Amino acid sequence: MTDERRFDTLAVHGGEPRPPEGGSVVFPVHQGTVYEDAGPGAAPYIRLGTNPTQRHLHRRLAALEGAEAAVSAASGMGAITGALHSVLGTGDHLLAAGTFYGGTRQFLDEHAARLGWSWDLVDPCDPGAWRSALRPNTRALLTESITNPLPRVGDLAGAARFARAHGLVSVVDNTLATPVVFRPHEVGFDLVCHSATKALNGHSDIAAGAVTGSRERIARVAAVLGAYGAGLDPHAAFLLSRGLKTLALRVGRQNANAAAVARFLEGHEGIAEVAYPGLPAHPDHARARELFAGFGSVVAFRPAGGDEGAESLLKGLRLAYRASSLGGAESLVTRVRAAEAGLDRDLVRFSAGIEAAEDLVADFDQALAGVV
Ligand code: PLP
Repeated sequence: MTDERRFDTLAVHGGEPRPPEGGSVVFPVHQGTVYEDAGPGAAPYIRLGTNPTQRHLHRRLAALEGAEAAVSAASGMGAITGALHSVLGTGDHLLAAGTFYGGTRQFLDEHAARLGWSWDLVDPCDPGAWRSALRPNTRALLTESITNPLPRVGDLAGAARFARAHGLVSVVDNTLATPVVFRPHEVGFDLVCHSATKALNGHSDIAAGAVTGSRERIARVAAVLGAYGAGLDPHAAFLLSRGLKTLALRVGRQNANAAAVARFLEGHEGIAEVAYPGLPAHPDHARARELFAGFGSVVAFRPAGGDEGAESLLKGLRLAYRASSLGGAESLVTRVRAAEAGLDRDLVRFSAGIEAAEDLVADFDQALAGVV
């Protein structure tokens, strides 16, 4: 049964045992790897993600995504590959609707064929393209709720409906949106994946992944992760549970900061292009407004001065670290090369942290003053 409380309350209380274990309002870290057999059912075991701290995290993740069940993985890639392995077998075909995070794209490029999977990359905004790419052996549709590195918002409700109508399992990477902004199960997605390394943990200090879905589907994902030894260790599970407590606050601030920076850049003569779904000029703005509660923490843009302009802007920034991740407390900025990202132009990606918006904007202002 899904928990109907508001998201800010869920982030703090969702999946927490009441009364709390041992009276502690913070669920403890159980580091134990092995547990005594106590009757029917398998005894907990660390590699299988069934130690009490791992289970506690799974209840929390399920509550936040409004799912029956959840499982954690050693990283976001562990979550995505675990989800795909749980639905695809030799000879199966995947519809990949998006541009995709580089690691996901690389996995498909380098490993899918070896596993006997075929796949087609299709436009997430064009349902006609999904229909033409459909084959008799298509088993799953994979997409991202906000694409990375160029933030686009595909026809997400349409993709889930399309998958259901054609008997496909729908899988979505919800890393950039987070459940604060979008809860994909509510529009019918079967499996929701996260790089919890990013906003779910939010402090840039663990690698983690998560998958949510029905009990039956998550049991299959958990079996894959157990077989490959790709689960999350309990100490990281404890840290991730702690990070989740402040998820709504952090993501709310990051979204507001990203919007402020996007608005500032959009009007600046030193910037040729800004892509942020929260800007009315963004091609997916109307869809994002309809589906989302916020527009994400990632802004992609192109400085007017080309390569040189981008370099001098990045060198001029004093607050954002030059690093390629997202979702943490610190703002980050990185260059995205067209050839590596499957795009037609180089971009700069700004990932908003939780600093004051005024300081972030002032930092861009001074850095751009040095460029133009
Ligand atoms: N999905 C998205 C959208 C990402 O941005 C990333 C990492 O940047 C991943 C998945 C992979 O996550 P991890 O590095 O935790 O494996």
